[in-house]
Amino acid sequence: MAYDNDNIFAKILRGEIPCKTVYEDDFALAFHDINPQAPVHVLVIPKGPYVSLDDFSLQAEPAEIGGFFAAVGETARALGVVDGGYRILANIGRDANQEVAHFHVHIFAGRQLGPMIKKG
Ligand code: AMP
Repeated sequence: MAYDNDNIFAKILRGEIPCKTVYEDDFALAFHDINPQAPVHVLVIPKGPYVSLDDFSLQAEPAEIGGFFAAVGETARALGVVDGGYRILANIGRDANQEVAHFHVHIFAGRQLGPMIKKG
């Protein structure tokens, strides 16, 4: 799938749509999800134009990949969720119900998060 420059996260990166920023560096931007599924629900996105983790892992430079995952850890520490624990999740494609076609990692925290995945 080709990257769509008009996807909502591309617009957030360009500053065309506001977001509640948690953390930002050269590789990533982290901001609060607009429809939180847990007391803490933050999205971390790479600054580059990647559709999904599949695209990112194929196309991104090693420094971008390392920088991005370091930013996920920085974001969790900035949120203060390390002691209590947190979950990261990335939806890739149809069966995972990926809604926004710009790679993103969800960070969930702030309550007991239950089983890893719904059965059935
Ligand atoms: P996914 O299903 O993994 O693609 O998740 C997309 C996430 O983006 C959902 O949790 C949405 O609530 C979130 N989202 C969509 N638009 C915005 C926005 N403008 N600001 C923050 N989060 C958003």
